Amino acid sequence: MLIHDISIPISESMAVWRGQPAVAVTYVRRLADGDHATVSHLAMTVHTGTHVDAPSHHYVDGPGVDGLDLTTLVGPADVIHAMSAPALTGDVLSGLGIPNGAERVLFRTRNSALWSRSPGEFTTNYVGLTDDGARWLVDRGVELVGVDYLSVAAWDHLVPAHRILLGAGVILLEGIDLSGAAPGAYQLVCLPLKMAGGDGAPARAILIEGD
Ligand SMILES: [Zn+2]
Repeated sequence: MLIHDISIPISESMAVWRGQPAVAVTYVRRLADGDHATVSHLAMTVHTGTHVDAPSHHYVDGPGVDGLDLTTLVGPADVIHAMSAPALTGDVLSGLGIPNGAERVLFRTRNSALWSRSPGEFTTNYVGLTDDGARWLVDRGVELVGVDYLSVAAWDHLVPAHRILLGAGVILLEGIDLSGAAPGAYQLVCLPLKMAGGDGAPARAILIEGD
């Protein structure tokens, strides 16, 4: 069994969404200061790094992250390479060979290289789903979609693509690093923190290869 950790490390120097606060780590207690234990305090938005979006992110009455179905967050997933695509439109998705009946689809794009090339820098020039790409996935019954940047939706399609997917109950996995993931079938395990009513939550996400 081979495990690929597709989560990105949380640190004060990591890229965060434009206009949102940087990660801040402070210490409540610290061995280096003579305390009996180290206790760190972590401040960040729930949409930092590798995380899951819940419907309440875009719908007032939508379920929170604690209401997401665990059977969707764990199970077979297809890693699809879209390395030359400038955007994930419906037309582009049609040509990627996404298996019929795929339940969980993770897109590896040129974004994955950004995690190592410019880890602390946010860019709006990332590859994401357009609104018709989002509709394409909903029409095919995809239950979970992951993209290798801080949003599954392209910068110019942020709100419509999020609303189409979250409104259809699709779980969104954002901020994954697929730079080590070959195309193909894996088992995904992705468990967001159980924040009561949270509009999203950080998650440790892994892909398991083999049995
Ligand atoms: Zn998010």
